[in-house]
Amino acid sequence: MTEYHNPYSCYSCGGKCTVEVTDSLDGHMLECDSTCSVCGKIHPWATGFYLMDEDSQPPKCETYTNGAFLG
Ligand SMILES: [Zn+2]
Repeated sequence: MTEYHNPYSCYSCGGKCTVEVTDSLDGHMLECDSTCSVCGKIHPWATGFYLMDEDSQPPKCETYTNGAFLG
């Protein structure tokens, strides 16, 4: 089962994030910028995954499995 990244959870530290939607379709969020309220980092997210190069380090964010899009 695919585990998608929760954009409300920080990729770097798992802290709570503020999400600014940058693209959506039929009310479903396709892309957003996720700003962490704990470490202050901004991570781009699109269709279920953070767009990060740091895959050497396992993401600290929460995950979900019920589909790529958030509504
Ligand atoms: Zn963080």
